[in-house]
Amino acid sequence: MQNVEFRYFRNPRNFAYRTDEIEPCSVCGKEGIWLYGGGFYGARDIDCICDACLSDGKLKELGIETNDAFEGTEEQKEGIVFRTPALPTWQDRCWPFREGDYCVFEKIASKGDFADKEDFIRCFTSEDQESSDLSDIWDNYLPEKPITSIQNWNYDISIYLFTRNGRKHCTWDAS
Ligand SMILES: [Zn+2]
Repeated sequence: MQNVEFRYFRNPRNFAYRTDEIEPCSVCGKEGIWLYGGGFYGARDIDCICDACLSDGKLKELGIETNDAFEGTEEQKEGIVFRTPALPTWQDRCWPFREGDYCVFEKIASKGDFADKEDFIRCFTSEDQESSDLSDIWDNYLPEKPITSIQNWNYDISIYLFTRNGRKHCTWDAS
């Protein structure tokens, strides 16, 4: 594994989809446990990409995108769609944009990531607060046990925890 830091993805070692086995990076050929390319969007398919090639923006030349991004400057959007590991969901991978930039994806959340139910609910947009039963998600779906990686994550409803300027922001997704 390479020690590559991503601006918008805190822990790609534990929270990005990776190949099960050592494979050559589809771009540079270097061998490793790389970011799985099966869920990427684009005109062509690749098996996987190493962290360094993703960070270097190699997917832009190939016209392959990892996530959806519709707000902000071109540079910010390109950071999310070409240079950030895919958000670990098979649904829409739309990255939250708050206060002038995209948030940093921290982890998949459990109860211990929030002070209490009110703190949890405050992390969502007002649209989510109106359209989703977040109280029910807190009471019945948010796991008690910390989720330390996507290896020990297997839940009907997942809460994606992001931060921006020291504040928590959440989205949720049903499998
Ligand atoms: Zn590579």
